[in-house]
Amino acid sequence: MSRRVFAFRSIAVLALVWVGAVGGFALLSIRTATQQAGEELNAAGSALHRIVSQRVAQHDAHLTSLAALVQSADPPPREAVRQVALAIMRFYPRIVSVRIVAPDVGGAGGSGEIIVAAPSEALATPLPAFTAGVFAQAPGEARAYADPAVPGRYFLGKRAGAPGRPLAMIVEIDPALLVEGEERPEATRLRLELGGQSLVDRAAAVPQESAALETLRFMRAIDSQTQPLKLSLDRSLALAQVVPMGSVLLFAVLSLIGLLALRYTLKQRRDAARSRAAAREAQERSLLLERETRLAHASRVNALGELASGIAHELTQPLTALLSQSQAALRLAAPGGDAQRLDEALRANVREAKRAGEMLQRMRDYISNRPSARLPCDINAVVGDAAALSGADLAQRGIRLELDLERLLPQAVVDPIELEQVLHNLIRNAVDSLDRTAQAEKKIVIRTGTSAGQVVIRVSDTGPGLAPAVLPRLFEPFFTTKADGMGLGLSLCATLVERAGGSIRADAGATTGAAFVIVLPAAMPRMEAAQ
Ligand code: ADP
Repeated sequence: MSRRVFAFRSIAVLALVWVGAVGGFALLSIRTATQQAGEELNAAGSALHRIVSQRVAQHDAHLTSLAALVQSADPPPREAVRQVALAIMRFYPRIVSVRIVAPDVGGAGGSGEIIVAAPSEALATPLPAFTAGVFAQAPGEARAYADPAVPGRYFLGKRAGAPGRPLAMIVEIDPALLVEGEERPEATRLRLELGGQSLVDRAAAVPQESAALETLRFMRAIDSQTQPLKLSLDRSLALAQVVPMGSVLLFAVLSLIGLLALRYTLKQRRDAARSRAAAREAQERSLLLERETRLAHASRVNALGELASGIAHELTQPLTALLSQSQAALRLAAPGGDAQRLDEALRANVREAKRAGEMLQRMRDYISNRPSARLPCDINAVVGDAAALSGADLAQRGIRLELDLERLLPQAVVDPIELEQVLHNLIRNAVDSLDRTAQAEKKIVIRTGTSAGQVVIRVSDTGPGLAPAVLPRLFEPFFTTKADGMGLGLSLCATLVERAGGSIRADAGATTGAAFVIVLPAAMPRMEAAQ
């Protein structure tokens, strides 16, 4: 994943966490505020319920005392009853009227003779339709009535009077006055109902500015056997009331700062861990490189031991030539000698000495223990050096080494000694396989060329070739099919070639013997190299 995608993802995660946290805080605030408002409403509702229940109970008490007065004499003391009724009304303005009715003997019983009406205007108003129902009540029983014809009022009817001469006592009550202005909890809708009929429905004193988020309700029946009023309070909660914007904003800012600080710390930690890992990796890489270089060196020293007899043999040639040319020169240097032939002999000596010196220099280079150094190299020259070093050994074994080098080969950036070592290893393996055959023609061919702008070196032999079973494991360290093999040659070749940015593989297309192909990136385009 690229760094930018990673940064974008971490910012997205951070934003999500932040939005979640602020949302969570707002929800928690809403819950707390709603719960608190609910508790407040409940407390206010209960207090109001208590007050209204007490007031409603007073109506029963008034009726009881009026009934006692009515029944104290026969006929009832009208004026005294009227005065008491008026006094009650004066003290309790919610009691709108008091009527005491005798049944209409000849009539339907619904309307009757009004014995007492307070105030006197009540005489003008028709008797409520339920009056007949009051006569039907048990003696002494009181019951509340709501009359749809008289909205906003309810009536408390009581059956009184002497046996055989019943009286209906009807008290008209204004329920709106059961709750005094300041007693009503603020911002609530107050309702009083009786038997499903709404008596009072007062909207909230404080108008709602925004849409309600939630409506809380308190509902309880008034504690009265005679007047089963239902009290309910509704409180609408707007979003602004339950979400404390100030603290949400403060939380949002603080949580954002906290999250950014956390992200910064985590990033610092991650970066530190990353650079520690990179440093560790670099150290391990350099250790590995050092080990590989040591291994390569040890392997070269070892190989040179194997080549020693061939090289010694190779050196005897220039040394023998040197000896014979020197003896000839001595003779020619005697007085009367041929000066021109002396010159030729000495020149030949110089040539042979140089040849021997070059041979020894190559050996020294090959086994030198110096750090790997890559530079643009003439690959054909490296191939030539490798061939020169093992040429004598091959000749001793009756193996022909054939070089087929492309003339205009581009340079490649390699460590020449390491590439030479790779070629030596391949030659050694070819020698091993050729040694095991009784074939008449034992030949190793090293060919150079280019392919797709890259330098290609192919080392093939006329040995028995590679068995398909060994192909996948050839470059594994310690893989060998030889009794005395170490199995490190090809894996070292792969390490060294890959160090130079190249690759090595067995040529699966080889028809006879084994063939290995090394591909190296060219140091410059072919055309330039050709110029
Ligand atoms: P070693 O030579 O010690 O066995 P290498 O890694 O050089 O280790 O080679 C691994 C194996 O690859 C050899 O044991 C051999 O089986 C096979 N091999 C390598 N080169 C050739 C070749 N030219 N011809 C046949 N087999 C080969």
